[in-house]
Amino acid sequence: MQNLTEEILKATKEALDDISSCSDIQSLRKISSVYKGKESKLYKILTEISKLQGDEKKFIGSCINESKEKIDNVLLQKEQELKISEYEKEESEYLDITLNKEDKKLGSTHPVTQMIQKIVDVFSLYGFSHVTDREIETDWFCFQALNMDVDHPAREMQDTFYIEENHILPRTHTSSVQIRTMIKAKPPIRIISAGRVYRNENQDARHSFMFYQYEGLIIDNNISIADLKSILTQALRKIFENDKIDLRLRHSYFPYTEPSFEIDATCMLCQGKGCKVCDFKGWLELLGAGMVHPQVLRNVKIDPKKYQGFAFGGGPERLIMIKNEINDTRLFYENDLRFLSQLKKL
Ligand SMILES: [Zn+2]
Repeated sequence: MQNLTEEILKATKEALDDISSCSDIQSLRKISSVYKGKESKLYKILTEISKLQGDEKKFIGSCINESKEKIDNVLLQKEQELKISEYEKEESEYLDITLNKEDKKLGSTHPVTQMIQKIVDVFSLYGFSHVTDREIETDWFCFQALNMDVDHPAREMQDTFYIEENHILPRTHTSSVQIRTMIKAKPPIRIISAGRVYRNENQDARHSFMFYQYEGLIIDNNISIADLKSILTQALRKIFENDKIDLRLRHSYFPYTEPSFEIDATCMLCQGKGCKVCDFKGWLELLGAGMVHPQVLRNVKIDPKKYQGFAFGGGPERLIMIKNEINDTRLFYENDLRFLSQLKKL
């Protein structure tokens, strides 16, 4: 009996050693069939049990069963380990030859965001700080402080979505940021602001219920229209990367500036000669501007006799549209990558 138990232990150890040194599923299956088959040492020992008697027979039988159970468990565990490692190996080596590497394009910020960043960067060269503020405003900050009283007809041009309670509304222009800045800061003030604005407008190629604006403001001593024209000319030349651009000021009307102007730039597509984009005028309308109205300064407790300033504002989309010859502003918000990826000139 001593011999048989030793043989069982030896056979078991051999089996376990073979299993643990196995490195792939195929080899493991061969080992499994050897140790479970009729040629295995354990099977041979089992055939000798019949020669034994009583307790001895029982004891050796239970030793063999215990050994087989142990081998089965280790086989199962090894099989799972090998399957996992083979799967991981396949994963790491997997190569899908149908994948087109060129289709993987890196995303980028939206062209309007890029243009706003460019505007902010260029104006920062002239000492303008970038300021942002809330999009939901009160009637006072959006209209009344800007010299548009409750029944002012100019409000018609900036109809929006009123929320009845407390006179709250989505801002119709970024000029409310100027008011908030002038209340908080003392002159000299030099800021550039940009963001979303909202208007109740019919959707067409030139109008959308939401669009972007950028807006600049200077309040200081001895500020004149010459400063307005000079700074805007230099800044727009940098934004359009074109030193030949000139500006012309056409008289206009805004309640918050006096005098007010529409500012046109030399058409950069035809260099002022006249083309389809500029309607053969040689000039392109770019933005609105003017000297800050004295009443607006009084509304924010700045003495108009001591300080003057100018403000200007426009749409970043307009600048991109001119540079890329686009005629429909809605294209910017449809998020069609075929359109967005074509806009190289920002
Ligand atoms: Zn032109």
